[in-house]
Amino acid sequence: MSNLNRLPEIFWEIHSNLPREGPGDNASTRKAFSMLNGLPDAPRILDVGCGPGMQTLELARSSRHGQITALDAHQPFLEELARRAREAGLDQRISPVRASMFAMPFPPARFDLIWSEGAMYFLGLREALAAWKPLLVDEGYIVATEPCWLKDDISDELKAFWGEYPAMTTVENAIRIIHEMGYRDGGCFTLPESAWWDDYYVPIERKLPLLRERHKSGPAALKTIEETQYEIDAYRAHSDSYGYVFFVMQRKY
Ligand code: SAM
Repeated sequence: MSNLNRLPEIFWEIHSNLPREGPGDNASTRKAFSMLNGLPDAPRILDVGCGPGMQTLELARSSRHGQITALDAHQPFLEELARRAREAGLDQRISPVRASMFAMPFPPARFDLIWSEGAMYFLGLREALAAWKPLLVDEGYIVATEPCWLKDDISDELKAFWGEYPAMTTVENAIRIIHEMGYRDGGCFTLPESAWWDDYYVPIERKLPLLRERHKSGPAALKTIEETQYEIDAYRAHSDSYGYVFFVMQRKY
């Protein structure tokens, strides 16, 4: 999804009007936030790849007086986030910004906390930890979910499926990278399986029959639909092999 302009229309038909745009749930967002120590009363927070903003709203609630800059490259997601923020009475504390995470328009030491659910993989763990560090105050935090292998013996089929993300690694190796990049390991936990289904794969899967019917004479669209089904089936069959892990990382130097 890093070059969003090139994505076909069917991609956006699948990825619109969903509660969220990647695995996650409010309980996990709250749990990761509770692992932070020493944040100011009104932390300045950047939510990278915020999508339609389910976790942005939860961050606003969890941080009480936090000011959140919510960054995404896809304007309709930002509009949806702004609508949800208004409805929740949180719009005074959430500022949507359309920009690329590869070139973020902020001065150094601007944020106490950088958050990212299901989006850091566009850069990769190591690259994100390097690129985002200057935006953090000393001892500031990065909290992000990252796809990881959850066991050692991964089938060739799964490796090929995740081949688009060659940086995918184990939790143990991710923690080694976190230390190497100058961060303290503030703890981690794997998202529960329900966080993949309830607000993400189940709503997508419900849409697919209608989309198959609508695009029955469009082979390219049908191919994208079946790739989406394959992704969902792969998780159904192999949820013990990979998952999203929430990492809490504190800048050391
Ligand atoms: N955090 C949201 C959630 O969990 O619902 C969205 C996760 S979705 C898997 C990834 C998000 O990253 C999308 O909203 C997409 O528009 C955004 N994105 C992709 N490439 C981007 C880029 N280069 N710069 C900024 N945002 C990007």
